Amino acid sequence: MHRRIGILGGMSPESTAVYYEHITRTYTGRFGDYGYPEILIYSVNFQKFVEWQRAGRWREAALEMASALNRLRLAGAEFGLIATNTMHIVFDEVQQAVPMPLLSIVDATAEAIRAAGVHSVGLLGTVFTMRERFFRDGLAAAGVEVLTPQPDEQDQMNQVIYEQLCRGQILDESRRLFLGIIERLQHKGAQGIVLGCTEIPLLVQPRDSPLPVFNTTLLHAETALAYSLRPTDAPAKLGE
Ligand code: GLU
Repeated sequence: MHRRIGILGGMSPESTAVYYEHITRTYTGRFGDYGYPEILIYSVNFQKFVEWQRAGRWREAALEMASALNRLRLAGAEFGLIATNTMHIVFDEVQQAVPMPLLSIVDATAEAIRAAGVHSVGLLGTVFTMRERFFRDGLAAAGVEVLTPQPDEQDQMNQVIYEQLCRGQILDESRRLFLGIIERLQHKGAQGIVLGCTEIPLLVQPRDSPLPVFNTTLLHAETALAYSLRPTDAPAKLGE
């Protein structure tokens, strides 16, 4: 049977819902029936994480994430997803503390960019995702150069993510802000744009963007579906 998926969600619920919808709809679209993998979702208290992020208290966040993922494992999950780009900042620590495979959103994105033959991308996300090394290094390992917006643009984007998108508010004015930033990244040489926050695709659709977009939410969800469906006697290889 399919490997049971455990999703560490709630960061934010707006995008966690998209994972659930995309995995189940993609399965049914592909196979025509309702035999999608079983999915467990653990929705955290996001406020605690927002405060830990602001204070740089990543260790506490990692411990809480490991404990939630271990609860998912005890409830029957066979592998896990951390349904947010930002919190992949502690991916390695969390993986070490959780005895089931976790599929990385950074690896899923790097693989899609590589497959598309794109060598230089603009990275949009929270300030943590744009300023810390974890995402940039993951893409660099796949031979992809990363461009980021100006610091003031990063701050504006971060504010939209936490004050609007994570609350389900989708405003035209904010879409215009993001599209202006995408155009400036295009002029700097970006060939594609990583929507590196799981809520950004709620605001920016591929049709809005002058460049191809890499939707990290959908790429992560698709990687999970593929891993879940792989026959259990096939050699387990993460990220495929
Ligand atoms: N979902 C967001 C992301 O993908 C940001 C929310 C958060 O986890 O802080 O980075």
